[in-house]
Amino acid sequence: MAYLTLKNINKIYPNGFHAVHDFNMEAERGEFIVFVGPSGCGKSTTLRMIAGLEDISKGEFLIDGELANNWAPREREVAMVFQSYALYPNMTVYDNLAFGLNLQGVDEDVIEERVQKTAKILGLTDYLDRMPRALSGGQRQRVAVGRSIIRKVGIFLMDEPLSNLDAKQRVTMRSEITQIHRETGATTIYVTHDQTEAMTMADRIVVMKDGYVQQVGTPKEVYFNPANMFVAGFIGEPPMNFIRRRVEKGCIHVGSHCIDLSKKLGERIAEYEGKDIVFGFRPEAVVLGGQADAYTVSGMVELTEMLGDNANVYVDVDSDKAILKVTPHEIPAMDSEVVFSIPVESVYLFDAETEQVI
Ligand code: ATP
Repeated sequence: MAYLTLKNINKIYPNGFHAVHDFNMEAERGEFIVFVGPSGCGKSTTLRMIAGLEDISKGEFLIDGELANNWAPREREVAMVFQSYALYPNMTVYDNLAFGLNLQGVDEDVIEERVQKTAKILGLTDYLDRMPRALSGGQRQRVAVGRSIIRKVGIFLMDEPLSNLDAKQRVTMRSEITQIHRETGATTIYVTHDQTEAMTMADRIVVMKDGYVQQVGTPKEVYFNPANMFVAGFIGEPPMNFIRRRVEKGCIHVGSHCIDLSKKLGERIAEYEGKDIVFGFRPEAVVLGGQADAYTVSGMVELTEMLGDNANVYVDVDSDKAILKVTPHEIPAMDSEVVFSIPVESVYLFDAETEQVI
């Protein structure tokens, strides 16, 4: 049986706003789950319902098979790290870490042992005597994380814990949190709007939009088998390119190129005759020039961005915009025509009406 079960969870706020619709998910013990989606999609609301900080309007939340909807936060054995972490400014790092255990009346020698162990995991051993003001942002964030993991809890909840850090600190803390998770073994639910954080940290990702779960899957599943255009466009950087066209005699026309969709869909293409379809491909799936077993398209180069190990090329493809990822040695000249191919297996087709993958 799953450790955490969310069954048709809904949140309707007192003002009538329906923030979360029929959220379904199961998490195994020790899993690292990431909720990802744009601002306002209901990630924090769902996390707060799991923490017991927000009532569940409808649906069932089970911990280890027991209905926990009405359990107090304390009974749920959760620890939560928020976006804005508040450390006690007049206490040393040691005392900040020990605070919760002191309140619980834990023995001094047990506290000492746990503080030392937590500090070691987080690389804070040399800072235990310091005051928070004498720490960098990243170190303060580690103390905040430490205050949660020092309590032995089953569920670790994090709401955008890295958003106050600069880009470099975020990358470092990302791997540190993953490592802490591995060492503590606590089931972790982590909220972010950053798809890179989701992809790099998660065992499984829950992609949300407008209060609805769009897809639940491993990073590989949501990247390689996106359920719909939203997931396809949200996961991956730069995002997937989309070209919308009407299907005529099994083909779509992109500039002078005729793209025979039966190569991809076989006889099913007949269902889409006369209808609009969305042709999707990732910037990194593109090969410059013509290729066998591939769809070949051309476009005009509007902008190039050299990034070091690769480059982004912005092209106008028959009035649609697309981004191609190329090696630094392949960057085409501005305003030139570029011919490129997308292997048939790297093309995604979406129903233009439902936006679901075909
Ligand atoms: P962000 O990344 O911006 O925090 P989020 O995905 O975590 O976004 P939530 O904070 O869960 O989103 O909010 C979901 C929706 O519910 C938003 O439209 C928000 O305005 C609304 N909302 C949040 N709290 C309340 C409240 N107390 N009363 C009414 N509506 C609320």
